[in-house]
Amino acid sequence: WEDIFKKLVSHCKEYGFVFPSSEIYDGLGAVYDYGQNGVELKNNIKQYWWDSMTLLNENVVGIDAAIFMHPTIWKASGHVDAFNDLLIDNKDSKRRYRVDLLIEEQIAKYDNKISKEIERAAKCFGDAFDKQKFCKTNPFVLENIGKKEALCTRFAQASSKNNLEELHQIITDYGIVCPISGTNNWTNVRRFNLMFSTKIGSTADAKMEIYLRPETAQGIFANFLNVQKSGRMKIPFGIAQIGKAFRNEIVTRQFIFRMREFEQMEMQFFVRPGEEFQWFERWKQIRMKWHKALGLGNHKYRFHDHNRLAHYANAATDIEFEMPFGFKEVEGIHSRTDFDLNNHEKYSGKKIRFFDPNINKSYVPYVIETSIGLDRIFLSILAGSYCKEILKGKDSRVVLKLPPALAPVKLAILPLVRKDGFPEKAREIMDQLKVSFRCQYDEKDSIGKRYRRQDAIGTPYCATIDQNTLDHDQLTIRSRDTMEQEHISIDWLQKVIADKVNI
Ligand code: ATP
Repeated sequence: WEDIFKKLVSHCKEYGFVFPSSEIYDGLGAVYDYGQNGVELKNNIKQYWWDSMTLLNENVVGIDAAIFMHPTIWKASGHVDAFNDLLIDNKDSKRRYRVDLLIEEQIAKYDNKISKEIERAAKCFGDAFDKQKFCKTNPFVLENIGKKEALCTRFAQASSKNNLEELHQIITDYGIVCPISGTNNWTNVRRFNLMFSTKIGSTADAKMEIYLRPETAQGIFANFLNVQKSGRMKIPFGIAQIGKAFRNEIVTRQFIFRMREFEQMEMQFFVRPGEEFQWFERWKQIRMKWHKALGLGNHKYRFHDHNRLAHYANAATDIEFEMPFGFKEVEGIHSRTDFDLNNHEKYSGKKIRFFDPNINKSYVPYVIETSIGLDRIFLSILAGSYCKEILKGKDSRVVLKLPPALAPVKLAILPLVRKDGFPEKAREIMDQLKVSFRCQYDEKDSIGKRYRRQDAIGTPYCATIDQNTLDHDQLTIRSRDTMEQEHISIDWLQKVIADKVNI
């Protein structure tokens, strides 16, 4: 997979999707810039999410809160005290590791062993295979289930008691980090707060330390009353927001999967206390349907329910996508209880309540959160669309089979040759269509090379202008996925392409 992933990363750079930030100064760790095609794809993903939240749900409205917020917000939310990762350093390699990710990897190893054994047995026994019975009786499977459960329990207990020595002991006992030839080459396990801070105010006296938000959610909680009152919203209702978030991540490999500056698309849905689990289930299904509608393959998604919960949650699940480096979280769905609003009430001294006329009672609402990393879904869409196809003869092509509605360019307009009035006609068509959807004019190189360039950025259709266009107002439409061509009349071009790309 490393090879495929490397190719995808260089493809992103070569075709203007993602560049390392400050590259002329050798880059900045885990910070990336989006190029001319990347920004279009990103904007289209945002629009797809925004519409699915705020157009399709009459009771979900949007906001755009500031990144800078009063520092007490982060005290109330628990981030100042608890937004920590556990880390451990290898003194030899000078590499830093996140303890929870090391444990997750170990758990995945046990899961892998178990599923391989089950697969092997299923092949041997054929139709007679009884999976449940096999898992309850096979010594190898039982041993690995036992080890995995013991690891999960020990880790949960040590984390909840903040017992750093025991955490170190666990990762040593399980061989996750091992001392080399008797010496301990690893540091102790430590906590590390992920928030970036800066100072606001212009004079030395008036300066106040503030944080760059590590999640967009708190901007929604802080505006709960404003939106509820000004919008006359009734529970249940939701507030959606897209915006930047910042985390001083410890482990930053894997390209845009884990960045220090990233974007989130979050929706906080406010419900009556006691009804949170049914809404949690409902949003889980809605969000999974949204992902699957992208058409990248239903088998690439799965839920991962959490056993260990964040300090604010009473239920949590991740939607994972099969990246080239395994199934990874792209979206978190959390039942956040009334933790945030309650604490904002305490810290601000303002009543943050909703009077529910149906039950004649006022209460602090419970919250279901859907939180998706825009950069991660961007990566999942690219990874799910990127393919190399072997064509007839020795020819091959790299093609991004992006969902057409998300493609940066919807239609390429290509004069067959740079003469005979073809470019002028192509420009005329371009001027008519560019107000409807994004078109790209290209006249350089052979038509075959131009098709490949459009395949590489995921353009779903190319229109070729030739003598037939001048003589009979007909042009050739070439489909990215099938590479088939059809002739259509210029008058139909706008409607045909708009229908095909769902605009
Ligand atoms: P992880 O366990 O991978 O660190 P998380 O569980 O801390 O992620 P959440 O706090 O639930 O993440 O954030 C919601 C979403 O924001 C995640 O599902 C992910 O898509 C995105 N996200 C979180 N951290 C990053 C990051 N450093 N870079 C890019 N996206 C991120």
